[in-house]
Amino acid sequence: MSDAPVYRNLIGGTWHDAASGATFANRNPADTADVIGHFADSDERDVVAAVAAAQQAYASWRLVPAPKRAEILYRAGQLLIERKEACARDMTREMGKVLKEARGDVQEAIDMMFFMAGEGRRLHGQTTPSEMPNKFQMSVRQPLGVCALITPWNFPMAIPSWKMLPALITGNTVVIKPASDTPLSVYHLVQCLTDAGLPPGVVNIVTGSGSKVGEPLMRHPDVKVISFTGSTEIGSRVARVGAEGMKHVSLELGGKNPMIVMNDADLDLAVEGALWGAFGTTGQRCTATSRLIVQRGVAAELTARLAAQAAALTVGPGLDERNQVGPSINQGQLEIVERYVQIGMAEGARLVCGGAALRDGPYARGFFHQPTIFADVTRHMRLAQEEIFGPVLSIITVEDFDEAIDVANDVPYGLSSSIYTRDVNAAFRAMRDLYTGIVYINAPTIGAEIHLPFGGTKGTGNGHREAGQQVLEVFSEWKSVYVDFSGSLQRAQIDNN
Ligand code: NAD
Ligand code: MN
Repeated sequence: MSDAPVYRNLIGGTWHDAASGATFANRNPADTADVIGHFADSDERDVVAAVAAAQQAYASWRLVPAPKRAEILYRAGQLLIERKEACARDMTREMGKVLKEARGDVQEAIDMMFFMAGEGRRLHGQTTPSEMPNKFQMSVRQPLGVCALITPWNFPMAIPSWKMLPALITGNTVVIKPASDTPLSVYHLVQCLTDAGLPPGVVNIVTGSGSKVGEPLMRHPDVKVISFTGSTEIGSRVARVGAEGMKHVSLELGGKNPMIVMNDADLDLAVEGALWGAFGTTGQRCTATSRLIVQRGVAAELTARLAAQAAALTVGPGLDERNQVGPSINQGQLEIVERYVQIGMAEGARLVCGGAALRDGPYARGFFHQPTIFADVTRHMRLAQEEIFGPVLSIITVEDFDEAIDVANDVPYGLSSSIYTRDVNAAFRAMRDLYTGIVYINAPTIGAEIHLPFGGTKGTGNGHREAGQQVLEVFSEWKSVYVDFSGSLQRAQIDNN
């Protein structure tokens, strides 16, 4: 074990080693010799203790007035502002995304703190007239209890904040299992809440693998909500477990997001947008632009300009602010990227830029890959259908608007999409006909803001949305309350006819 710090599970407000006593190392994907910390390699015993702590804390937390819960979130938001730079640097070290983007990830959690704190004074329900005289009725939100949050590595602080803060403001308690590649950012997020006065047991952290921690956590009978972001494969497993236990289940899964460029587009803008959409976060965003659907009239020029500019992107460790593209998260993810490059070649797509992992000199201890672009991709190639989650962009040429929309929608996912055009009619038709949860006009497929609902159609999820006020539906249940002050029995649907 290196002399890097040791981080223990947070259970009931105190720090605990895993019951097994084992730990795992969190390494820097730009330099695997750099160990960020050792974390508890937990199992079901730790999960059981954490759920019990959360269940116990729920008894009092649910009764804290929501505006008072909000005050803790506001204070935590202020603390996170003060700690933003330090949190961003630690995030780049553990996850690899370039520093500018890590700052954005922390900022998203700050935004969510204040947005959900505001909800503490809203959480609106309805009042509505009764069909009877002397009768009052309303609907109110109620919390559910213990929420299991299972999160991926690509947004190490933002995604946990999207789940944790709405869970807390509605009066639930939480057990979070962070991704094992990026647990430290969750510690930083939770530390802000604890320092702001969050009572013990309201948020608990258990680190470890999906099989040893995620599985028993989501199966635990006292867990009432499972909020999961990750792969479609595990997501569908989570849905089945949730169905057996009659739990609320919210899933945010993969994407295969298209950006359409029409002949009349502003090409400078489209080139810049495609580079950011495809290679920002090294393509490791669920909203990454992975298909560029280009109308024939501009295909050759766009391809040439993109290839030249993608080849000029500087790849390297994200802590060096000259670099624009960081590493893939781990060896497995890098191998997936390499495999899809081979698949693309075998399918007959034309490699116009990149195509190789970077392993020499300064890259030797990291998981780096060249920004890669394939042209002459056709709509049913695996390259055009399957999520890669790496720096690989596929260009598909189409004849007209209708074909562009048809190709855009012809994948098993439906998270984000975009169109570049100067034709207002085409833009509005695209807004209507692109079957995704998010649509951008003259912007790439990435860049969601936290006060609108976030999520997708088809294989991207199960119909729920994160962020926006819509996320409150996942973490609360409606209770309709009828108050009869007539002093007599009034029977609905019977006595008023
Ligand atoms: P993953 O599904 O392997 O893991 C996600 C989380 O689930 C991790 O914390 C993991 O430990 C846990 N897990 C794994 N097996 C489990 C099990 N059997 N039971 C319970 N939990 C288990 O995904 P990943 O590799 O961490 O993340 C990359 C994937 O996530 C990509 O496919 C990407 O599309 C998707 N993603 C989607 C969104 C979105 O909002 N739609 C956002 C980010 C990432
Ligand atoms: Mn790491």
